[in-house]
Amino acid sequence: MMQEQQVPTTRIQESLLTKADVSLYIQREELVHPTLSGNKWYKLKYNILKAREEGYETLLTFGGAYSNHIYATAAAGKLFGFKTIGIIRGEQAQPLNETLRFAQDCGMQLQHLSREAFQHKNDPGMIAQLQDQWGRFYLLPEGGTNLLAVRGCEEMGRQAAHYDVVCVSVGTGGTLAGVAMAMKGQNRLLGFSALKNGQFLTEEIHRLMDAYKGTVYHNFQIIDQYHFGGYAKFKPALIDFINQFNQRHRILLDPVYTGKMMFGLYDMIRQGYFSEGSRLLVIHSGGLQGIQGFNERYKNKLCIYSE
Ligand SMILES: *Cc1c(COP(=O)(O)O)cnc(C)c1O
Repeated sequence: MMQEQQVPTTRIQESLLTKADVSLYIQREELVHPTLSGNKWYKLKYNILKAREEGYETLLTFGGAYSNHIYATAAAGKLFGFKTIGIIRGEQAQPLNETLRFAQDCGMQLQHLSREAFQHKNDPGMIAQLQDQWGRFYLLPEGGTNLLAVRGCEEMGRQAAHYDVVCVSVGTGGTLAGVAMAMKGQNRLLGFSALKNGQFLTEEIHRLMDAYKGTVYHNFQIIDQYHFGGYAKFKPALIDFINQFNQRHRILLDPVYTGKMMFGLYDMIRQGYFSEGSRLLVIHSGGLQGIQGFNERYKNKLCIYSE
């Protein structure tokens, strides 16, 4: 049902990299599946297998109106035959944005909660109320991070041993924790935070590693200077970078996660952060579904150049 996927790894070549004497590769997980793509494929994989094994018919999860996780859960439900319920933060806007329209087209039932009520999404009372309303469901947390997600993300670290530095984008830290488990403390792992004040994530990632395998690795570092004002915030410099990167290399980056990571990495390369001869691997975690919704809101700022 969900065999090991092989995505290409693309070498990026340009003068900045030659000048800094580093080599840069991108593991193209955005290509792993057309709708269930990037890290969300890996985060959901073992959860879906478990839900099926335990006879669940319904997946329920939480997210914002543009959430990659909502989109991926809806896609997974359609692909693998589960009903899906998406509890969405904030009042419903009409018409639905691209993300929620896709989710609904996949069969996801959407329930909007006020921002205030949404904050209580993990309270036992709230879960009990949702069960009264929707019946028995397999619960996926907002963002999809749990120990089965970490297990899936471990598979994204399969090539890490061949590189000096591996880069991932960080939201909840589940993806980084999985890749770190695959690396077993070898080499270096940089996690580019999509959130402001991302340093709290270090402890959260230690907690995930410990809960997953009882081992805590310390060869990773959260880089939190490239959030552009906070989660889903942006500035013109970020948009220009994403468009130019796409134009030069025909690789799309999303404005919430992978664009910020690549911007940050290029800035660090320019500053001479990496020693000569370093081999760098960026794991592209997907998120490209967000581009349409971004362009709906911000007047087609992001260009899409194809092959
Ligand atoms: C969800 C997401 C992330 C963050 O993953 P975490 O496991 O929550 O850290 C990173 N990149 C993309 C494209 C995502 O959709």
